[in-house]
Parts: sequence; structure tokens; C-alpha cells
Amino acid sequence: MSVLHDRLSQSLQRIEREDLYRVRRIISGQHGTLISVDGRECLNFCSNDYLGLAGDPRVSQAAQRALQSSGTGSTASALISGYNAEHRALEEKLAAFTGYPRALLFSSGWAANCGALKALLGKKDVLIADELNHASLIDGGRLSGARYERIPHANVSAFAEALSRDREPEHPEQLRLLATDAVFSMDGDIAPLPQLAALCAQSDASLMVDDAHGFGVLGEHGRGAVEVQNIKPDIYVATLGKSLGASGAFVAGSEDLIEFLIQRARSWVFSTAPPPAIAAAARCSLQIIQSEPERRSRLQQNVRRLMTGARQLGLLSAQNEQAKPNALVPIVPLIIGDAAQTMAVSRSLFEKGIWVAGIRPPTVPAGSSRLRITLSANHSDEQIDRLLSALSETGLNRAKCLAA
Ligand SMILES: *Cc1c(COP(=O)(O)O)cnc(C)c1O
Repeated sequence: MSVLHDRLSQSLQRIEREDLYRVRRIISGQHGTLISVDGRECLNFCSNDYLGLAGDPRVSQAAQRALQSSGTGSTASALISGYNAEHRALEEKLAAFTGYPRALLFSSGWAANCGALKALLGKKDVLIADELNHASLIDGGRLSGARYERIPHANVSAFAEALSRDREPEHPEQLRLLATDAVFSMDGDIAPLPQLAALCAQSDASLMVDDAHGFGVLGEHGRGAVEVQNIKPDIYVATLGKSLGASGAFVAGSEDLIEFLIQRARSWVFSTAPPPAIAAAARCSLQIIQSEPERRSRLQQNVRRLMTGARQLGLLSAQNEQAKPNALVPIVPLIIGDAAQTMAVSRSLFEKGIWVAGIRPPTVPAGSSRLRITLSANHSDEQIDRLLSALSETGLNRAKCLAA
């Protein structure tokens, strides 16, 4: 027996004992509100395909045309020979859509956040970050070696307090960067962006916003939480694998920001460029996001229907009720607390043919395991009602959740 073997088997046993063992279910065929999971048809309430574009034939046709013309792989990093006209066209469209001078395409949101933070921050700098930020912002911050100020969730005065400290006199050039998710992926709440932007402006700090769950979904034009809250961060990150139904991510910002990332973001420089066909798919989705605002209205109606029904069943918490009526996020968490109980409810829904993900630590803090319901513009009223009636049959209610 080797150290490696012992360590792996002991860790796996511990994960299992703590009810935190994770397994994958196999999807076959298209994504959509009905999907085939482990061979059976199932109503899908756990994907981030908020606008139903992952299965849109126009998007896959755009990808197929690019596959025909440009082949499969991009064969090299963008700085060598991997930068295709499809990538350029997408970057230009993203920059125009978000209203920034430039945008840079990354192969994933993970790579964008880690690459940008590591490139921008050095040991003498400070990262001021919400404690519930996505893991990629946390890891990028750690990797950078900058001082890491972890701020209680959405606590504006704690952010203000961290920013009120003067720059260390021995480091007059110290960069202070405030980084936050725009829409928190496991809670569905929106960061207090206008307040954070004002704080940054007052204290000569910079603001980085990750709008992975807002981009395409929120705002009249789908420009995300930053459109609803009317702010323009120095560094804007969003992903292409959620509401756009494609894959990858981008950073938008000034000319100099993007040129600097091209020189220094290691996850971009040392990584093969995404397939041109994926860029073509994302560009087609972006076109649909602009031309079909009715998808966003339909999604908002669906969120309202789910919230109303869940409220009647007594399932909503005070946190759910804080949702802003003009920016209904299609992520509705039902917090249960205990990991084993959460997974039991998720399994019982799955047995009824309804897939709602159970979310456990380390994705969420210990004691806050939850069902995470996500909605799509393509869900019908009848499908949402089926979810609500299945939830009522589980016997779940707020009082029970809190007592657990
Ligand atoms: C999903 C997500 C990411 C990671 O994006 P990928 O493209 O899936 O790697 C980053 N930030 C947030 C807030 C996310 O929700």
C-alpha cells in the first residue's frame, strides 16, 4: 500500500461518511427542459441554460457552419496560430454589446478569473472579495499572492471599512481591487453593485465584476446585472456556457486591460484557443439575445410563477423574498440545511422524473445545503406546476427546514 493509495481511500471514505460523496448522471441527446438522464426522460430544473439556447437549432447550425469552414480544433494558443476570424468576430461583438473598447475570449470562466487576477495582482496588492464569490475568483486571488481581504457576504460597510484603510505608505503604487460575483450562483441574490462602485470611486480602488449568471438574462437588453444596476466596472467578466448555451468566457475592459492580459494572463497565453465553432455558436446566441427580448420576459414570468407557488407552500425564506422585482434571477434556492436530508429530497424528486440539484458543502457553507432550482425561458407553466406539486408531496416546508 502506498501513501497515495491510503490517502485516496481514506479521503473517499470520509467524504462518503459525511454525505458529501458526489457522482455524475449521464445525459444523452439534447439539452432542454426535458432531457434523457441515465436513460429516462426527466424534467430539468438544474441547468444554467436560462434562455433555452443550448438546444436552439440556429445556434447549433452556426456551429456546424463554422465546423465545416474551420474544422474542429484551433490547434494552438491564440498568440501562436490559434486565433481564428470567428474568435475575432465574437470578441468584437462582445465588446460592442457590453459597451467596452475591447473583449478577450477565454476557454472558460475559471480560466478568465484565475488568469486575470493572477496577472493583475502582485504580492504588494490587495484583493477585497465577497466571501461567497465563485471558487475561480477565490483561487485566482490566492494564486496572485496579493493580500486577501475576505468580506462578509454583500456587506457594504465591511467593504467600506476595508477600503477606508490607507494605502500602505511603503507601497504607494499598491493596487486595491474589489472583486464580486454580480449574481451569486448558489443564492441567486444580486451584489450591491452601485454601492460597491461608489466605494471604489471614492477610494481609488478598481472594481471587477463576474456576471456569469446575469449576462444575457438580466436587464432590458440582457446586458446583465450591470445593466439593471447601471454601473460600469473596470473589469467585466461573463461566461458563454450559461445563458448563451455555448462555452467559454470573456473579460471586457479598456484597451490597456486587454492588451495587458494578452501579454500576461497565463491561463490564456498557455492554453489552446477554444474551437472556432464554439465562438460561432456564442456569436449566434448573442444575436438572439439582442433580437428576442421576449425570452427574458418569459423567463421572468416563470420565476414569478415558481416564487408564487413556492410561497404558497411555505418554502420561501426571507432571503428568497429579497429578490428585486425588476431583476428576477432564475436561481431559486430552497435552503434545507442538512446535507443528507437535502440529497434525500433531491432523490425523491428525481424518482418522480424531476431533476433539481441538491447542493452541499464545499459548494455552499456547512449547514446550508439546499435544493437549487434553476429556470429556463422554455419551461411551460404546466412544467413549473408539476415541480410545485412534486415539492408539496415531499412534505418539505420552511418550518421543517429550519428545525432540521
Ligand atoms: C460558472 C461560473 C464560473 C465559471 O465559468 P466556466 O465557464 O463554467 O468555467 C465563473 N464565475 C461564476 C460566478 C460562475 O457561476
